[in-house]
Amino acid sequence: MKITDHIKNANGKTLFSFEIVPPKKGNNIQELYNNIDPLMEFNPPFIDVTTSREEYVYVEKSGLLDRKLTRMRPGTLGICAAIKHKYEVDTVPHVLCGGFTKEETEYLLVDCQFLGINNVMALRGDAMSHQKYFSPSKGGHEYASQLVAQIQDLNGGKYLHDVVEPENAADFCIGVAGYPEKHLEAPSLQTDLKRLKEKVDAGADYVVTQMFFDNKKYFEFVEAAKKIGINVPIIPGIKPLAVKRHLQILPQVFRIDLPETLINEVSKCKTNKDVRQVGVEFAIAQSKELLAAGVPVLHYYSMGKSSNIKEIAKQVF
Ligand code: FAD
Repeated sequence: MKITDHIKNANGKTLFSFEIVPPKKGNNIQELYNNIDPLMEFNPPFIDVTTSREEYVYVEKSGLLDRKLTRMRPGTLGICAAIKHKYEVDTVPHVLCGGFTKEETEYLLVDCQFLGINNVMALRGDAMSHQKYFSPSKGGHEYASQLVAQIQDLNGGKYLHDVVEPENAADFCIGVAGYPEKHLEAPSLQTDLKRLKEKVDAGADYVVTQMFFDNKKYFEFVEAAKKIGINVPIIPGIKPLAVKRHLQILPQVFRIDLPETLINEVSKCKTNKDVRQVGVEFAIAQSKELLAAGVPVLHYYSMGKSSNIKEIAKQVF
């Protein structure tokens, strides 16, 4: 079922969902299942599976270092199919511009159709780890709005190279990313919102936000989005803080602000176990406020670990 239909069918009740990350190459899927199992009691109607950018690794060969391009966490679509089959929930593969040609994207979307996966998150992807700025792959898209347009073309039965098959049109529900504190490359929040509107105008059905820790920023973002005509559901993304280093990493990587109260509480912690507890309590309070405001879904960034998400969900749902 489409994410937007799950939201409609819930009749205003807030749903629970989460995002997982594929295991590193060479690991099996069992650990992922072990982390999904405890969260199934909260009836997630859908689970997102991220896609990682390719990266360079260095392999020693005859005393020399050989540079190889690889994806360290492959298997997004396979994991989506496996989880859908095992738990009978909808799964949402993240589809990236970066690292893919339009042709490869079309193959991926056709595979999704064959597997009965009709929700996708359309994302640009970040720059590769050795790059300062994102650069599109040869034959790939530069912005997520173009990827949304390609998926919408498939929804109209229009494949690449002018192949038109209206009888076998796809029916994808398309999610896109939104940034309550603006995307790090955007010159202003207002400009970034206009870019978000372009994604919605291209056919996006819903938005999932970047993590944020100050609900006021989310509420203001939703208001500002509505003002410029973005009328699709905007799902808040919640990340519980888990280690002290998050105080530096999260603002640096995602250019988000952390509230003083949270910083002070984390700074007092002697161990990461204490930090995890502070993170859980903060996320519970944050989630309860969002729930009271009637958000459509509370979507948690689990990073593949379920125990803190379970503690939060137990108190909120
Ligand atoms: P876009 O919407 O293309 O925007 C990127 C930047 O370009 C923005 O600054 C925007 O303002 C600007 N822009 C857009 N259109 C134009 C235009 N026409 N002209 C000029 N500027 C423009 N990354 C991964 O690698 N894998 C994942 O699985 C993944 N999942 C994510 C899930 C969520 C919910 C979120 C919020 C992010 C996720 N990301 C993921 C990160 C995402 O790929 C990065 O934030 C990326 O830098 C931007 O992606 P986007 O889809 O928002 O890009």
